Amino acid sequence: MNKVQRRSASLLLRYIAQEPIKRLPAMLSLAEKIDRSRQYKRHIALFRELLLDPDSVWRGFAERLFEEVDARLIRKMVECFIINASLEGSARNKEAEEKYNCNIPWAILMDPTSACNLRCVGCWAAEYGGKNNLSYETLDSIVRQGKELGVHFYIFSGGEPLVRKADIIRLCKAHADCYFFAFTNGTMVDEDFCGELLDAGNFALAFSIEGDEASTDMRRGKGTYRQVIAAMERMKERRLLFGYSTCYHRYNTESVGSDEFVDDMIARGCRFAWNFTYMPVGRNAKPELLATAEQRAWMYKRVREIRDTKPIFTMDFWNDGEYTEGCIAGGRRYLHINAAGEVEPCAFIHYSNVNIHEVTLLSALQSPLFMAYRKGAPFNHNHLRPCPLLDNPSALKRMVKESGARSTDLEAPENVDDLCAKTAGAAENWAPAADKLWEERYELEEAELREMSR
Ligand code: SF4
Repeated sequence: MNKVQRRSASLLLRYIAQEPIKRLPAMLSLAEKIDRSRQYKRHIALFRELLLDPDSVWRGFAERLFEEVDARLIRKMVECFIINASLEGSARNKEAEEKYNCNIPWAILMDPTSACNLRCVGCWAAEYGGKNNLSYETLDSIVRQGKELGVHFYIFSGGEPLVRKADIIRLCKAHADCYFFAFTNGTMVDEDFCGELLDAGNFALAFSIEGDEASTDMRRGKGTYRQVIAAMERMKERRLLFGYSTCYHRYNTESVGSDEFVDDMIARGCRFAWNFTYMPVGRNAKPELLATAEQRAWMYKRVREIRDTKPIFTMDFWNDGEYTEGCIAGGRRYLHINAAGEVEPCAFIHYSNVNIHEVTLLSALQSPLFMAYRKGAPFNHNHLRPCPLLDNPSALKRMVKESGARSTDLEAPENVDDLCAKTAGAAENWAPAADKLWEERYELEEAELREMSR
């Protein structure tokens, strides 16, 4: 978009924000105009169907959002996340991809610090300690370089990213055209920080939680659950935008997928949910925490039920591969930069050829491991088996060896054969369950198509 078009879109958004529900059709028409690459054509059509139906769960979601969240935050989210990052950004990503012949991401995940104030069971962040930090200048440089390639969405993980909250807020304000997001343990979200979030407007949080009080405290330490709930209360009070993230594993899958837990999170003000499954990465990982194939299949169905019936936008990082045509790592949709600057294909893949302190972002995207991802993806024709580590470990072994990538695990280098040995059993067990689900899904689609053609 040129400056005039951007100004017109901004004015139109202000007009829509005065009566958002009544003016939803205008908002959707604006989205159609901005989606130059037509990449989101199907999504916009689906949103039109769902949001304009007064009885749909998504209409209820939108009504609550506009009622309960500060209007300025919603406008910023639409401007930065939907328009700049998704509709406009995706078209620019595509142009850059053709120009440079490499993957260009839609989002960049970076760890401002390896420091964390908790020691969660099975998490590598606690092992890294506070030795590594990306300076403000480095974070700023990554965002500047990213914007050149059309990237307007930046996510922070860690360590605990809010250990660096002053620098993060400074970054959000310096790049008011981008949207920022952090996965946080919630223990550093005090009243002052809520005020900073409101002031910045372009920064949302996902609170890490493991289910009920006992499950959360079992993995994250005694008293953590109550601190997270108190932080959610503060955020809700200030009409801020937030959600939760869970890591489902053998001992909490049924709990984090239960009606009781999800309804409680909705009542506490969460608007979105990220579900991750446990990955046994690092020297002290606990492969026995891996979810069973039955649990993963249950979560696949459960997430779809939640999306159909509850006013919360729910994602499943592995089981949603069908919507992204498989793995999104290696810059295809995202990449990860750890606190030491190592540029990795994904937060769970600790191998790299390059460090952001030595190369540009574009060179990192053209590095051997990233090009191997570009060449190798999708790693399975069944997008319910998307992952080169969790579902297709031979693919990860091959890419790491052929690209000559080194282990970037900060605590202790991990040989790729050793890492993949930890997931081989889970991959083997998941394959028949995933193939059955894929087949059922295919049959359902066929039946829907037949119905439509009648
Ligand atoms: S490498 Fe695995 S965990 Fe990472 S994005 Fe790809 S599928 Fe997901």
